[in-house]
Amino acid sequence: MTGSSHLKTHPVHQSVQFVKGIGPRKAELLTRYGIRTIYDLLFYVPRRHLDRSAVMSIADLKKGLHGSPLELSDGIPTDVTVVGEVRSFRIAGVGRKARLVLILADQTGSLQCVWFGGVQYWKRVFEIGDVLAVSGRPSFYGSILQIVHPALDRIGRRSSETEPDHLAVDWTKALHTGGLIPLYPSGQELERVGLDSAGFRRIISSVMATYLEGVPETLPGDLLDQHKLVQLTKAFRSVHFPQTEQEKGAGLRRLKYEEFFFFQLKLALQRHAMKVESGGISFNTESPLARTLADSLPYKLTAAQVRVVNEIAGDMRIPKPMNRLLQGDVGSGKTIVAMLSALVAVDNGYQVAFMAPTEILAEQHYRTLIQFLDRLGVNIRLLVGDRRVKVRREILEDVRRGSAQILVGTHAIFEEGVEFPKLGLVIIDEQHRFGVMQRAALRQKGTNPDVLVMTATPIPRTLSLTLYGDLDISIIDELPGGRKPITTLLKSDTDSTEVWTFVRDQVRKGRQAYVVYPLIEESEKVELKAATEHFDHLKDQVFPDLRLGLIHGRLPGDGKERVMGLFKSGEIDILVATTVIEVGIDVPNATVMVIENAERFGLAQLHQLRGRVGRGGEQSYCILIADRRVGAKGRGGSIDPIAGDGEPDIARRRLATMVETTDGFRIAEVDLELRGPGDFFGTRQSGVPEFKVANLLTDGRILNAARKDAFAIVEADPSLSLPAHEVLARHIRERYHEVLHLLSVA
Ligand code: ADP
Ligand code: MG
Repeated sequence: MTGSSHLKTHPVHQSVQFVKGIGPRKAELLTRYGIRTIYDLLFYVPRRHLDRSAVMSIADLKKGLHGSPLELSDGIPTDVTVVGEVRSFRIAGVGRKARLVLILADQTGSLQCVWFGGVQYWKRVFEIGDVLAVSGRPSFYGSILQIVHPALDRIGRRSSETEPDHLAVDWTKALHTGGLIPLYPSGQELERVGLDSAGFRRIISSVMATYLEGVPETLPGDLLDQHKLVQLTKAFRSVHFPQTEQEKGAGLRRLKYEEFFFFQLKLALQRHAMKVESGGISFNTESPLARTLADSLPYKLTAAQVRVVNEIAGDMRIPKPMNRLLQGDVGSGKTIVAMLSALVAVDNGYQVAFMAPTEILAEQHYRTLIQFLDRLGVNIRLLVGDRRVKVRREILEDVRRGSAQILVGTHAIFEEGVEFPKLGLVIIDEQHRFGVMQRAALRQKGTNPDVLVMTATPIPRTLSLTLYGDLDISIIDELPGGRKPITTLLKSDTDSTEVWTFVRDQVRKGRQAYVVYPLIEESEKVELKAATEHFDHLKDQVFPDLRLGLIHGRLPGDGKERVMGLFKSGEIDILVATTVIEVGIDVPNATVMVIENAERFGLAQLHQLRGRVGRGGEQSYCILIADRRVGAKGRGGSIDPIAGDGEPDIARRRLATMVETTDGFRIAEVDLELRGPGDFFGTRQSGVPEFKVANLLTDGRILNAARKDAFAIVEADPSLSLPAHEVLARHIRERYHEVLHLLSVA
């Protein structure tokens, strides 16, 4: 440890409540907006700046305006700043027409400032002889030059009666005029307590005056040099109150790096601690069971599968807990990789927990495992939420005695009462459904079991570095051979006859089809009714001669299991489903995926759904049926733009992307772009950290650099005790107490 806890924390890390002008009420509100400390306030960067740097004399302004009342001629910026002395002010007009008219004069002439509304307030603000800087958009009212509702700063007084021409001007008092003026994000709630843009401007400027001096630098000098980053205090100044856009840019770059760097530093420390703190299990990876399974497969593993199996085995062999993310697009064959890993653990006498996000998926995995592993004599149990009490007790007993070697299930397998005497490996499928927190909770079920997380969501690299930054990553970047790329068509809801004819055709050839219906949670009942009616319509009117099945989230567990079983064994031709089938379902004979109201699905969902077909050797199709106002018109599947912007436009981009590409990474990028990072996985559970200054979408290069630096530093000096790293240790102590204990681990 650094042993310097006697050092005083810099006041900039105190609660915002200590700031003059911020009482408990404002502090409470700010906290809700993520601004807890004064430091957070400094990180509250402006949305943009207003350029009010053009300071002009009144005569020049009049000349420049050419007497045109509305349009500004070339050479006159839209906002100008004028400095002058208050000559007079009065209320003109009455009732609703009342306004305050103020005459401001400099040595070259005079102009009017006008306020409509709030006249009694404004009247009390001024005194004759005040020197004001006013900014705004000038115009002519008849022949009178005026600025309506100007921003203003009082920057002095006429110095003396005897020197009427001398204006004592102090620009350091200008906050709202005469330069690049920061505009801060705000909102109704904040405005109500006086924290509109100008309010933030006042508070942040006063905070800078009081606290900025002596705020310690947080980054080692060589990093600053290497990346040509400006000092922290300069960065804060430049970002809020810059002289030039360039200066602001340099400040922003520094703060973005700072934000990413400390985020990655925490991840690096966590990862390091996990690796040294806990002796993990050292498995013997020469596994006869795995060997037997590999030899008995009806297909050959792809090179990518072999590679990731080796990466996993490498982790399992060494006595450190594995923390690996297995990423592979839908259909890339992750399940077999999981099974082989599980067998290594089983062969070593350990138990395996295999968790899936939905019951259907858990059941499918269970069935697959039974199919391949039963004959190897492996004892596999399934635990999902709605098991009957007696069955459940039996399963739990089996797990507790250690005779259950693999327990498959939903998150139910990590509830209380489930005790593994010898948990060696945890496999989590389709991770994005689970929060990051759950991953941590999970680890506690055993004594440092290895953890393998699998996801089909192709995560753009910038995001995976943050979301899974503490994991090692393996990627299956190759689909099993013999697969034909899926053909995707966009159809309008007026084309359904054509679509159904096509589906019938495929079924006649011995194939099977999915028809998916969107279900939105808030109106689940109504929509479920719609889905059921639609099912009846298809069953009775459109396909009376075919075998149809319906599956949705409200079916009891064994009902779902039964329908899925029938579809898998080919006893159902067309499976009508709500999105419960989204993830993981594997029926290679299904070649058509029809998605109704496709405009209502997100890109990740559409990609997942499409991944349900194209799993066998046959040509597969994905048909997106969209509302005709959003989607396709006619037969070509081309997109018919409609007027307006917003939702329909975004929906159209999503659908076009689906038609254009099957590349999951490309799709993920578009998705991220359309949604923004916070929303990428659906907000709450996502665990995607929010950055205040940095942007995951556009600042990937800074992120990569920061990550590299942070990990290298922890690698070389995990306790951050080298003199060069003292600044880092200090900042962690002051701002990131939650990881402070990790410094003592090394
Ligand atoms: P996902 O990665 O989406 O979970 P699955 O593990 O469900 O994919 O595999 C998709 C399908 O591909 C399954 O039917 C599986 O049996 C099959 N499969 C897996 N690996 C191969 C391979 N190397 N060659 C041929 N088929 C494979
Ligand atoms: Mg899968």
